[in-house]
Amino acid sequence: MDRYAVIGNPISHSKSPLIHTGFAEATGQAMTYTAIEGPLGGFAAAVDRFRAEGGKGLNVTVPFKLDACAYATDLADSARAAGAANALKFDGSRCLAENFDGIGLVRDIVHNLGHPVHGRRVLLLGAGGATRGALLPLLAQQPARVFVANRTVDKATSLVQEFLARGAPPSLEGGGYADLRPADCFDVVINATSASLGQELPAVPPTAVAPHALAYDMVYGKGLTPFLTLARQAGTPHLADGVGMLVEQAAEAFVWWRGVRPDTTPMIERLRVPLN
Ligand code: NDP
Repeated sequence: MDRYAVIGNPISHSKSPLIHTGFAEATGQAMTYTAIEGPLGGFAAAVDRFRAEGGKGLNVTVPFKLDACAYATDLADSARAAGAANALKFDGSRCLAENFDGIGLVRDIVHNLGHPVHGRRVLLLGAGGATRGALLPLLAQQPARVFVANRTVDKATSLVQEFLARGAPPSLEGGGYADLRPADCFDVVINATSASLGQELPAVPPTAVAPHALAYDMVYGKGLTPFLTLARQAGTPHLADGVGMLVEQAAEAFVWWRGVRPDTTPMIERLRVPLN
């Protein structure tokens, strides 16, 4: 039977085995999917072992997404732009790397939640790996504006410069939270910081959230986070966490490995935690 797994450290919290096992059952694919706790500093050896045992592909999570890029022989644009990979596929001596986080985010926002990005103003909070992965798929939707705001301002500005140098449109801008003026209002506000993990709030001004905006927190399973609370207080009823992104990026990897697209709705419903 074909073998797949997720590798990370720690890994016991990962929902990936549940998601992929569910996809395999629903689509009738003969495969196993397990979790591997990779030793810190020992990513390549752990992947080599998995391949030697017949492994076909891996999902990669914290802290190995950069190691996965370095390990791969063939980087997709998504992985190159993000500088990180979250899915690997083994083909003989070749190792192909993808980053499906951004496409999963966009599928969730546009397809599942029904909020178009085309022609809209998008505010991305954070300038870490999740923002890097999200930028190309978001820009592909041709938004009117994308502003990347980060606590460490230099990280946002240098990230934006890097993407502009690689051909991103001039509608991409970056800076600190203090650079957002009262007139800067956005239709889609995405919290791609890890602040919600510690119940903290990025210093985003409430005026940045339009009353009809979609407020999207990439962190999932935490209920109504401080960011979503701020968005609700700013007047929008459209709140979402990152559970749909998680399931959609998993579905993209599943299609890439198996050539079959699973229905994501039942899994999103199964994993959803109420936002209250
Ligand atoms: P990184 O560690 O690469 O980046 C963290 C970012 O969060 C930085 O921009 C950092 O700012 C910012 N940050 C951290 N704490 C605070 C705070 N208290 N206030 C303001 N900003 C803060 O993480 P990732 O980009 O990889 O991931 C970000 C989040 O996205 C994670 O929490 C993860 O759970 C979630 N995620 C969800 C996915 C999903 O499928 N739903 C997929 C991928 C990620 P600074 O640069 O100033 O330190």
